[in-house]
Amino acid sequence: MAEIRRTFWSTVVWLVGGMVGLLASTGAAEEGWKAGVARVKITPEQPLWMAGYGGRDHVAEGTTSELWAKVLVLEDGSGQRAVLLTLDLVGIDRGTTQAIAERLAEKYQVPRERLAVCTSHTHCGPVVGFNLRPMHFERVAEAEQQKILAYARKLEDQVVGAVGEALQNVSPVRLSWGSGRTTLAVNRRTNREAEVPQVRAAGQLQGPVDHDVPVLAVRTPEGGLRAVVFGYACHATVLSFYQWCADYPGYAQTELERLHPGATAFFWAGCGADQNPLPRRTVELAQEYGRRLALAVDDVLNAPMATVEPQLAVQYQEIPLPLDKLPTREAVAQDAESRDSFVAARARMFLREIDAGRPLSPTYPYPVGSWNLGQDVEWIFLGGEVVVDYALRLKRERRGKATWVAGYANDVMAYIPSRRVLQEGGYEGGGAMVYYGLPTVWAPEVENIILNALRP
Ligand SMILES: [Zn+2]
Repeated sequence: MAEIRRTFWSTVVWLVGGMVGLLASTGAAEEGWKAGVARVKITPEQPLWMAGYGGRDHVAEGTTSELWAKVLVLEDGSGQRAVLLTLDLVGIDRGTTQAIAERLAEKYQVPRERLAVCTSHTHCGPVVGFNLRPMHFERVAEAEQQKILAYARKLEDQVVGAVGEALQNVSPVRLSWGSGRTTLAVNRRTNREAEVPQVRAAGQLQGPVDHDVPVLAVRTPEGGLRAVVFGYACHATVLSFYQWCADYPGYAQTELERLHPGATAFFWAGCGADQNPLPRRTVELAQEYGRRLALAVDDVLNAPMATVEPQLAVQYQEIPLPLDKLPTREAVAQDAESRDSFVAARARMFLREIDAGRPLSPTYPYPVGSWNLGQDVEWIFLGGEVVVDYALRLKRERRGKATWVAGYANDVMAYIPSRRVLQEGGYEGGGAMVYYGLPTVWAPEVENIILNALRP
């Protein structure tokens, strides 16, 4: 009997063990999302030149709100990973992104295509490497140039460290998405800034806008909010003073983190190159716009959201985006004598290159990335300051999908006008090229070239 009983119990143990094993393997086959999160403060610790406005004549004087780099690592059910890096910075140059990407590939085996770098376009952050080079780097003393390069190197170290930290804390999560709305963005090409309050009150604001607020919620299996990722298509130019400040996107992130203790909020800038937050110029307005954006996100978080299946498909390419007819060396040499200090700075930069045997390039390696999250969410990452027409056209052409279009991603090398804006001209159509250090305007076909690169 004892013998039989032992056999009986060992059979039960074996059966239960087998069932547990079976459940475990079923669980493995239906693995869900995992995520890792980290953040690091990137507010400069010493006085440094500020980026975004050519009119500033000295370095920052203090800090109104801290600047952050934040990392979200997502891992799908089959173990495919991607790294989202958001930065409270005006932009980032190609060299800094490349340096970060190379180090992530070497240190953590994260391939280039699995990294997306998004900037908020705050105009109260530091100069980043060669971003807006003729506006900033080329026009400051050499000692200041060294400080600018030292900041970029430190930023690389900090970001690489934060990615390592996020990879360490990858754990199971649930992803869901939704979309909200807020109306603070105003088309700045078609509305006079001083008249906006009256024109808005009359319901007569003109020009295309994108008021969508896309939201991705990252929740623990128990339902706690671990991270929230959101975007908005509008310049972060409420403020223009001499204080470090993340502008309205910073206040929006802080407010969401206050509403959801323990969660990390990530902001990415959409196609807001021709959009301004109006009226502007006070800290109170930056806080108010931040609060409004945060509440739009929070409304989405508090309503039923759509589940994102644990599948991640990532693409990244750099396409040769054509410029219009290049200037001759003679024309560049003439520009070097210009009384416009930005035009002269750009020309001197080109002459150094041309005379070193590196002629002006007729194309620019333009970064186009996309992440497909589950069946429904398609998230596109475009470089440069992209005008709103791109997001509106992509959303129109891809009806049925939740299409999110980030601009200011991976490399902010210029404004990216649509065909319409390019033909209309003005600052976004071509005037801003001088500040970015590209030799002329884009070729007329760039809109279609970029959109063709995104054809499924
Ligand atoms: Zn801008």
